[in-house]
Amino acid sequence: MAAPHAPTILVAEDETAIADTVLYALRSEGFAAEHVLLGGEVAPKVRTGRIDLVVLDVGLPDITGFEVCRQLRTFSDLPVIFLTARDGEIDRVVGLELGADDYVVKPFSPRELVARVRARLRRRTQPSSADWQALGRFGIDREGRRIRYAGQALDLTRYEYGLLEALLQRPGAVLSRAQLMDRVWADALDSGDRTVDTHIKTLRAKLREIDGAADGAADDAIRTHRGLGYSIDIGTA
Ligand code: CA
Repeated sequence: MAAPHAPTILVAEDETAIADTVLYALRSEGFAAEHVLLGGEVAPKVRTGRIDLVVLDVGLPDITGFEVCRQLRTFSDLPVIFLTARDGEIDRVVGLELGADDYVVKPFSPRELVARVRARLRRRTQPSSADWQALGRFGIDREGRRIRYAGQALDLTRYEYGLLEALLQRPGAVLSRAQLMDRVWADALDSGDRTVDTHIKTLRAKLREIDGAADGAADDAIRTHRGLGYSIDIGTA
């Protein structure tokens, strides 16, 4: 039985034996699943707004899965997973920019397909807040290369972000200028200790702006350790 708010998967597949296997696998994993036999039925179903993901056979009797996907992309960014035959179809799925999110090749294991479906949905449905790791007063989204402080987004340059990210990896630990250079300026041509200092300075200014603290305030989140380097005090949220 599908849970009340279970994601609904639309399976477009004309071979009923395959469709039945897929539908059974999805439903037994808690998904709601609907089935259509023809490509032309997919877009109208998706337009109802009830579908969360489409499992789309490439070889459908009326129009190809490629064509169906093109239709969908004119009005929807719903995840699409292609079911392809082993012949030339795979190359076309991979080679053409159809906006398909994934594909599985027949014969496939229903379990693998369900795992792909789940992975696609997770990526899609996870609110972006789930990407944030809370670290005291800081929050970091490493994939999105974003950091916020005291609940406010920081507008950081690439190097400021890199420095802060490096310091946040081990709150409290002192990182030398050389270590910071290695991590943040690994691919940069010009270097020198002052580069680190310069960016730390602008970074501090941005943090202070949020704190409303005076320049040189003692409770600066970024601490200077003379002759050693810098550390970060993440504070308490
Ligand atoms: Ca088919």
